[in-house]
Amino acid sequence: MATILVTGGAGFIGSHYIQFMLDHTDHTVINVDSLTYSANRFNNIDAELNPQYQFVQVDLTDPLQVSQLFDRFSFTDVVHFAAESHVDRSIHLGAEPFLMTNVMGTYRLLEEVRRRGIERFIQISTDEVYGDFPHGSANEETNLSPGNPYAASKAGADLLCMSYANTYNLPIIITRCTNNYGPRQHPEKLIPKMIQSLRAGKPVTLYGDGSMQRDWIYVHDHCTGVEAVRTKGNSGEIYHIGSGKPIPNLEVAKMVCDFMKASYSLIEFIDDRPGHDTRYCLDNTKINQELGWNPTMTWEDGITTTMDWYQSQTVWWSGVKY
Ligand code: NAD
Repeated sequence: MATILVTGGAGFIGSHYIQFMLDHTDHTVINVDSLTYSANRFNNIDAELNPQYQFVQVDLTDPLQVSQLFDRFSFTDVVHFAAESHVDRSIHLGAEPFLMTNVMGTYRLLEEVRRRGIERFIQISTDEVYGDFPHGSANEETNLSPGNPYAASKAGADLLCMSYANTYNLPIIITRCTNNYGPRQHPEKLIPKMIQSLRAGKPVTLYGDGSMQRDWIYVHDHCTGVEAVRTKGNSGEIYHIGSGKPIPNLEVAKMVCDFMKASYSLIEFIDDRPGHDTRYCLDNTKINQELGWNPTMTWEDGITTTMDWYQSQTVWWSGVKY
């Protein structure tokens, strides 16, 4: 039986991964999170009474806290979701928290893992590390070319992970995923932000002309991809997780308007974000052929489920911090 350290489990994707693990395995899951503004601890995860689960508040940038955490538990696996995750904040509020958590926080974990040993370390990363990809799709060999401070901090963490796998022969694997959507995503992100605006009768804003394309994956599919990699992936490898179908932001906005019976006249175009990448797209061939993983949720079903969920929540919205 594994004892799995999941970092960032009070946030969006980490909380779904923990719920998935509690529902489908007997493993012990230790959720470690510093509870930044993007966490919504009690509303994102309802497992406090589950004997398989424990929450520990730890700031991964603090070496003493991280060391004490590893003194307290004998982890077999680390699945590292914790991050500063919002590109706009990395541009407008400054990159330092991104460098501290995404690079230094990862370094603190790697150092503990190097000293103590581990069976598996999964670094959860993003398609953003490849930068703008106007045509075709990036594969796992594509050069990194991050186009914003968030992406650069994730690329830095990925490189550090690969260097530790190579230098210390550690069982580290990187997953890089496309844009996630689904219940419990912080409303600073595109889809819940649009839903929140329309609920309040306000316009939804899109950068530039709305033609930027992102490849959207339902959060549950991301979790099954991570679990396929944790259980069947090869150390030192990188695996892509995505749907392979980029969609323009304007099309996403129109679908949200349709669902909420709002006029397209509520879609407003604002000045583009500095350095805005026009398109991301990942090639999923490797994870599909080597590990047999595929996403199962269609965009139409996923977006409907997501919007239904946000519409039915009241307590969850009240737990959102900025
Ligand atoms: P999120 O912002 O919802 O959650 C991040 C969590 O990390 C929060 O609970 C926060 O409190 C915690 N955290 C931040 N700093 C910490 C620190 N110093 N110590 C401990 N915990 C800390 O983010 P998310 O959308 O769930 O993303 C999770 C991971 O997935 C990130 O690594 C992100 O780069 C990656 N990713 C996200 C997407 C996406 O579309 N959201 C796509 C690809 C990859």
